[in-house]
Amino acid sequence: MKIIDGFDNFEGISQLEAIKKIGIPLARKRGRTLKITTEINKDYKVIAYINYGRWIAKCPWCNGADFVFKNEPYYFCFSCLNRAVDNKRIEVIFPKNINAIEQILLKRPLEINQNWLPEETIADLEKENKANGVI
Ligand SMILES: [Zn+2]
Repeated sequence: MKIIDGFDNFEGISQLEAIKKIGIPLARKRGRTLKITTEINKDYKVIAYINYGRWIAKCPWCNGADFVFKNEPYYFCFSCLNRAVDNKRIEVIFPKNINAIEQILLKRPLEINQNWLPEETIADLEKENKANGVI
């Protein structure tokens, strides 16, 4: 078991490839256009968190949340297609201790319990594990 990020979810393709493969047909279905660009908008940032065993971030514009890529720290929302910033991706802030967080959460057998929010420390997660009999 592992904590899934965008790279895992999109079966090992890059974020830009996922945007082309999934975003273009989605935009077409909605009668919209999607500009494929490597340019990053620096005016917005999102913060990565773990929900249900997945690395995701909340969209700053719509109510969506989407997978984030640990090896490509940019956010693209497959709900609104980042239309607010001309389909450009924005930066994602990941914690410095990704591995430590993942290792503690992976001790929990059920994905529903594999959650981490940026305000939670390693000690908080360990305490939760202990309180729930997870060693
Ligand atoms: Zn969105």
